[in-house]
Amino acid sequence: MFTDTHCHLTMLNLAPYAGDLDQALQEARDAGVTKFMGISVTLDDHVALAEIAHRHADVGYTVGVHPCEDREIMQQATVEHLVELAQDSKVWAFGETGLDYYHSVDYIPDQKACFARHIEASKIAGKPVVVHTRSAKQDTIDIIRAEQSRHGILHCFTEDLTTAKAVLDCGYYISFSGIVSFKNAQDLRDVARYVPLDRLLIETDSPYLAPVPYRGKTNEPKYVPFVARALADIYGLTAEEIGFITSHNFENLLNIRY
Ligand SMILES: [Zn+2]
Repeated sequence: MFTDTHCHLTMLNLAPYAGDLDQALQEARDAGVTKFMGISVTLDDHVALAEIAHRHADVGYTVGVHPCEDREIMQQATVEHLVELAQDSKVWAFGETGLDYYHSVDYIPDQKACFARHIEASKIAGKPVVVHTRSAKQDTIDIIRAEQSRHGILHCFTEDLTTAKAVLDCGYYISFSGIVSFKNAQDLRDVARYVPLDRLLIETDSPYLAPVPYRGKTNEPKYVPFVARALADIYGLTAEEIGFITSHNFENLLNIRY
């Protein structure tokens, strides 16, 4: 049992499956994946993701706008619009939202405002936010605190222990991607060791960041057990145990209602 809490189901390379996403999902199930959260990067993504999620009981999705999108696209994500889209029961979370000063420093005030609106929608709808942060850790923590967000995932975690502790204190879950399996990621594994087992999640972030031994190849949900395997070594557990624990954590996160 493994839950891929972050996969871009509309961006996968489906060439090996003759363009058929259902086959890619089936291969993932055959590898033990029991749940998938498809992630939006623009509001328009909800159309395709809703179609997928309503055909597959084990697929849910998010609604939101990524901080690397243009200002105009970010502005479409009003609180009202986000909350309205989240009426669909297959919407499990908002995002991915957050701050990215690595790819874009042009729209920092827009990124901050857009992130805050996702948090506001999260609080109204009672569904968590999926947060992306890059080269912006202090501002990310500041907004989570200022907006009193207590229901979220810091996804594809690559930050330091101080950042991990700060978001854990806010009630957040921390999700690791294939990066934690990379040879040169010892610092990240040292941080992972301190994340409480009951706040741990795993993801592929596919089609990006394939875990070892597929590093450099296009990623897909069926590889999420390899993320579990990398964490298993850190915690002294089996990959299956990490899969069970993180799947259980994800259920808890979705069931929290504030
Ligand atoms: Zn992503």
